[in-house]
Amino acid sequence: MTGTAVEADLQVRLESFMNRKDEIREKALKELQQFQVLMLDGHFDFGNGYHGRLYLNPHQLFRYPSTIWRFAQDLLDVLPASLLEETEVVAGPATGGALLAHTVAGLLDSRRAITRSPTMFAPFMVDAYRGPGLSRFYRQQLVGKNVLIVDDVRNTGQTLARCATIVRSAGGKVIATAELYDRMEATTDAGAPNFPLAEYKAPENYHADACPMCAAGMAITKF
Ligand SMILES: [Zn+2]
Repeated sequence: MTGTAVEADLQVRLESFMNRKDEIREKALKELQQFQVLMLDGHFDFGNGYHGRLYLNPHQLFRYPSTIWRFAQDLLDVLPASLLEETEVVAGPATGGALLAHTVAGLLDSRRAITRSPTMFAPFMVDAYRGPGLSRFYRQQLVGKNVLIVDDVRNTGQTLARCATIVRSAGGKVIATAELYDRMEATTDAGAPNFPLAEYKAPENYHADACPMCAAGMAITKF
């Protein structure tokens, strides 16, 4: 092939590769709905005076272990190959992020040469008031290591950012963050590239007395 033909061929391959990633991400968004992690077309009463169309229940991801294995495989499929190659530790905040990190670390090794050192896992314990923390044992494991931080859902991005700060303070290098579902409302950056499997921005919520679904007589969705 001529130089231009090689370039054209590479371009076609790159596009089909990107299309495949888009397909995986679209499929994941549908599956999040199918597994009732994400409910998009309801009329939900959040119990705080607000109503809205979208409800997110991350517990559904972990109720059946096979569900999280499935989404973890998809997440690995959309992450850049170089990232998968460099990752030495997968860390995530309890409970959902830690379960996901544990699964991702295990699955990563199933895609690598058996002669490589196994991928480590580290859980951040999350305190309702103080936020995420990491035990001394795990802090020691992170020294000089490339760390991928994962979570089930990214809301404001604050949890991932705090986890990243902890990894750096322990002497680890945060190479990326990733999550199964990004609400697209992040206001805080973890200082590393972020890769969502699925993303969807929630439509606005309404005060119960100004709710258009109520006005239209739509029944409250039970979940
Ligand atoms: Zn309503």
